[in-house]
Amino acid sequence: MGFFDNLKKGISELWDKAKEDAADRAKEAAEEKAQELAEDAADRVKEAAEERKKKKEEAQAAEQKAKEAEQKAKEEARVCSKCGRKAEPNVKFCPECGGKIVEKYRVCSKCGRRAEGDEKFCTECGGEIAEKVQE
Ligand SMILES: [Zn+2]
Ligand SMILES: [Zn+2]
Repeated sequence: MGFFDNLKKGISELWDKAKEDAADRAKEAAEEKAQELAEDAADRVKEAAEERKKKKEEAQAAEQKAKEAEQKAKEEARVCSKCGRKAEPNVKFCPECGGKIVEKYRVCSKCGRRAEGDEKFCTECGGEIAEKVQE
């Protein structure tokens, strides 16, 4: 083998080595990137799960609050059917006159919405507020 052959062989070997190195580095970079993406995706999944959990808890709290408000409104609506006295919770008959305790609501005659204050007309649909008695 002559000098040029050796030179050519040497260059070719260097070139192959350089290509291999480049391929290795590219592979490493790709693996690193893939790892990063996978971690990001896992983080996002975790965040989404936490967000859902938080939303669920908020919804449950809101539901609980609505239930309590409804219960309170129900208790406040309990009055004596005879003398109109406001009844204590769990009392079935009036301690003053023996009248039956009923639930008295003020509701919209049009849409059925419960009146919150002493409004005469529904703030939602303009319907007239009527008194509703439930035994
Ligand atoms: Zn009474
Ligand atoms: Zn209404």
